[in-house]
Amino acid sequence: MATEVFLQQLITNPDKLNSFVDEAKDWALHHGVIQRTCETPNSSEVVTYIPFTLFPTPVPEAAILQAMAVQTHFNTLVDKISQDSGFLEEALAGTVQADDFTARLFGIYRQIEQEGLKQSITLSLNRSDYMLDEGGRGTYFLKQTEINTIAVGSFGTTDSLPAVHRHMLESAGLWEETERVKDANNTPRMSAALAKAWELYGQQKAVILFLVEELQISQLTHRCIERVLWKRKIPAIRRKFEEVSRQASLDSDKRLFVDGLEVAVVYYRYGYMPDNYTEESWDTRLLMERSLAVKCPDIGTHLAGTKKVQQALSQPGVLERFFPNQPQVVEQIRGTFTGLYTLDMGPEGDQTVAMALANPDKFVLKPQREGGGNNYFGEDIVRVLTELKNDKMRAAYILMDRIQPRTQQNILLRRGLPLSLNTVSYEIGVLGAYVRHDGEIVLNEAVGPILRTKHVEQNDGGVSNGVSVCDTPLLI
Ligand code: ADP
Ligand code: MG
Repeated sequence: MATEVFLQQLITNPDKLNSFVDEAKDWALHHGVIQRTCETPNSSEVVTYIPFTLFPTPVPEAAILQAMAVQTHFNTLVDKISQDSGFLEEALAGTVQADDFTARLFGIYRQIEQEGLKQSITLSLNRSDYMLDEGGRGTYFLKQTEINTIAVGSFGTTDSLPAVHRHMLESAGLWEETERVKDANNTPRMSAALAKAWELYGQQKAVILFLVEELQISQLTHRCIERVLWKRKIPAIRRKFEEVSRQASLDSDKRLFVDGLEVAVVYYRYGYMPDNYTEESWDTRLLMERSLAVKCPDIGTHLAGTKKVQQALSQPGVLERFFPNQPQVVEQIRGTFTGLYTLDMGPEGDQTVAMALANPDKFVLKPQREGGGNNYFGEDIVRVLTELKNDKMRAAYILMDRIQPRTQQNILLRRGLPLSLNTVSYEIGVLGAYVRHDGEIVLNEAVGPILRTKHVEQNDGGVSNGVSVCDTPLLI
């Protein structure tokens, strides 16, 4: 790879390396590939570059095309699951007994169902993540690591990263490679789905409420989305759980008002982890779910993104149930699945435990958590499963085949990280969006691919927790 040859020379020349890296950071800053700092997450006085790779990483174009082609089917699948209470109940039965967070989400789902609120508009902004599993002799298989249905990131300020990467290739004299780095147009397209839901809600003065975190490192990314909305004359407001608790009310038609403003869409950029909630914010979540506002995601769509649902989908006949007369769609989706195994109580779960203990390095043990840093690998699997062997708490987890991704060479740029040429692996993500209105899907899009890259020695991933960095595919 031409980029790798260049990097190998660059790393031997500290002066050239430093000046090249400085140039990359400047380009990131002036293209707005920026975020707030972890020291001052609630202030924009000082900002920094978003962690990124010095060069774009080579990725087979065919893999990206395959992931893009299956995305609209994943959208449809998530939508169907979110409305199928029988399936969710069955799939999550063991999990809700073992995992308090899933149980609380499921409790809200149940309550909304019993109360019979029928919001006719549904909106989802999601992202399906993949790694390329090495098949030997240059072959690979596109394998899904997970699908995210709440607070999905990797668009916004990073949309300009391809421009930064193209410049770094130009600066390195790798002109031919620049042609193989495509622009990202993710923010306008993700925001268009928000706008569509707002239009369908049909109240010109109603706002889109961004439900935001306490530490607002990614506020500038939200601003990119807000910018698209305001340009369309769609007002957006930002509130934390605690502010919504104080300011929100429902009128007799269950319209949601916050601070006197009617809310057309609640857009969750927070609320995906147990520690995002106090008792009061659970009440607030329920209040918002009950309201007529469109929820992105609604509680059923949130649950559709759990790891347990992912595992349940891999069971024989389950995809067929969602796509009864579409064997080619089933095949396309199933083709991206790697081995997924239940840890529910019973002989099948016992077998999973035995299999994992016999060969821990071949698997990943996953709880129902998001945001990176929660999964177990290798000896940690042995430790956890030895403890939980015959305990019903083991149903809080699923087991998954460990994907062995291809590796490359690249330099990761993150504040405080010493410069070195590293063996890295990447994870492809495909952003998806859909809107359903009165039972009809009115928007269903594979928005675009994104890439995140990490040191190969790192097991788990995630940009916000400081493991992965943002990257751009260099199509090969
Ligand atoms: P989260 O919801 O916390 O992001 P993920 O399922 O995406 O959880 O896993 C986090 C990270 O762990 C991934 O980004 C990837 O680096 C690694 N990982 C997840 N599943 C696998 C797998 N099956 N094989 C190898 N690595 C995996
Ligand atoms: Mg996730």
